[in-house]
Amino acid sequence: MIREIIHDPIILSIKSKDATEDDIQTAKDLAETLEHHKDGCVGMAANMIGVSKRIIAFYDDKKIVTMFNPEITQKNQPYETKEGCLSLLGEPRSVTRYKSIRVRYQDRYMKSHEKRYSGFAAQIIQHEVDHCSGILI
Ligand SMILES: [Zn+2]
Repeated sequence: MIREIIHDPIILSIKSKDATEDDIQTAKDLAETLEHHKDGCVGMAANMIGVSKRIIAFYDDKKIVTMFNPEITQKNQPYETKEGCLSLLGEPRSVTRYKSIRVRYQDRYMKSHEKRYSGFAAQIIQHEVDHCSGILI
């Protein structure tokens, strides 16, 4: 189901709780809502659709990847960039990101994975993991 986007920075600043296998419907809704907004958005976190659980969905090339409880375990090569956010109004804002990261996460079957990302996908993951921690750009 396509869900409404939360824009309230106070709600978005609340740290999300760990996701469990009971949150699969939220993951599906998140992916569907992201697909609906794909023209202006490359990734979303569950709190952006009003569910305070650590789930993110993002486009890795043309495919949507969903992660439960993503955690960045390594980051290398910081750089400055500008980002926008579907939840926030206004101009893109400056932020520090890392070119290469390692992320530990669970899939929808709660199986653990650890994977290295670089480039644009790495940037999106960092933005969405921040959302899970209640951090806005
Ligand atoms: Zn955002």
